[in-house]
Amino acid sequence: MKIAVTGCGPAGLAAAIMLTEQGYDVRIFERFEFPRPVGSGIILQPTGLAVLGDLGLHDDIHALGKRIDRIHGVTMPSGRQVLNVDYSVLGDDYHGLAVHRAALFDVLHARAQALDIEILTNVDVVDAVISGREIAIVDRRGQSFGPFELVVDASGAGTRLKHRAMQPARTRELAYGALWGAFNWPDANFDENTLEQRYVAAHSMIGVLPIGGCSAATDDQVAFFWSIKTGDYARWLKDGLDAWKSEVLSIWPATGVILDQIHDAADMSLARYGHSTMRTPYGRQLVFLGDAAHSTSPQLGQGANMALLDAWSLVKALDQSDDTNTVLRIYAASRRWHVRAFQLSSLALTPFYQSDSRLLATLRDWFFDPVAKLPIARRIVAGLISGMLASPPKGLMK
Ligand SMILES: Cc1cc2nc3c(=O)[nH]c(=O)nc-3n(C[C@H](O)[C@H](O)[C@H](O)COP(=O)(O)OP(=O)(O)OC[C@H]3O[C@@H](n4cnc5c(N)ncnc54)[C@H](O)[C@@H]3O)c2cc1C
Repeated sequence: MKIAVTGCGPAGLAAAIMLTEQGYDVRIFERFEFPRPVGSGIILQPTGLAVLGDLGLHDDIHALGKRIDRIHGVTMPSGRQVLNVDYSVLGDDYHGLAVHRAALFDVLHARAQALDIEILTNVDVVDAVISGREIAIVDRRGQSFGPFELVVDASGAGTRLKHRAMQPARTRELAYGALWGAFNWPDANFDENTLEQRYVAAHSMIGVLPIGGCSAATDDQVAFFWSIKTGDYARWLKDGLDAWKSEVLSIWPATGVILDQIHDAADMSLARYGHSTMRTPYGRQLVFLGDAAHSTSPQLGQGANMALLDAWSLVKALDQSDDTNTVLRIYAASRRWHVRAFQLSSLALTPFYQSDSRLLATLRDWFFDPVAKLPIARRIVAGLISGMLASPPKGLMK
């Protein structure tokens, strides 16, 4: 079977690798001139790590990341603990792994190169044309590539192929996004195995995530996040770095060692978030993976993990039938409840951390921690953060 994969992110690379290893004839199409990682530090959860383990990449990725045992959040100025999630509640082997996006990209890209997977760059895919049981893709310049028997669309939240899905989904832009940057790990003040957050109501949030080095030769780094309404970005630029640094310092003085490394507004990149869930993540001879199928705010830290799970599930579905339509139905069914549970949880919980609502922030500050201390709630919260809730694909988690 000839398969085109659009997009060279985690979903596209993982799918291309697994499909090639199963003997399919795969080509990747990427809009950038050089394939490159987009995005910041991310947490690979036990689910995503299981997929990478299945690919034989456990040691490669662990060599580049930082083990995360705990996620801890405190509301300011009261100093009240709001979030305290310990992966070990699920078992001794459970943990997250925080990595720079570049590290995840490099590990997957190196495997794709070792398998001689062809990556065609400068191909900005804008449409797909179906003829019988074949499909071709078309780029912005009108060039056509194909025919293929299947297109795997992994071109992220902005996919141009979504109108080809059985039930195209609308994207709701979220008011809040984040500024983020990667800097040298400050030796003092922070725990190197904890994602730490500070909140002021739900309108301000600071995140400090240890992410290890991007390569064996690079020193450890930290990903630094600041929640911001994307509509306020122009004002943030105009007000200048000093005003912002004073605000951050007044909330969390210990971040001074990180702020000292920020010399230019361009050191912090703006990430915008949208929420969208495709109910039926496939069309004729076409299937959607990762953010192309479901995108959301990264508050629960699941996006890249979901992308890896999608790729793994698609390849397992291909094992089960020779008929493409049947395969796509099996794939969609295998991911349905896990994806919906996390998309819904993300939609429900994000406003407690990123919104203008004082009421939600007050409820969070007073109730989240006491409730989460109940034994059953501790497991549910840990299951939510680790991606283990709502049964991830059968046969993957040992
Ligand atoms: C600030 C921030 C923090 C995050 N934190 C986490 C976290 O802690 N844990 C986690 O799991 N996730 C996190 N995420 C989400 C995660 O980054 C995404 O869910 C994940 O990257 C989705 O992978 P993907 O392969 O589906 O899409 P992408 O990573 O978006 O990759 C899509 C690829 O397709 C290419 N492309 C796009 N359009 C076209 C086109 N028209 N033609 C050809 N190629 C195209 C792009 O250039 C890119 O290479 C975070 C995201 C942000 C912004």
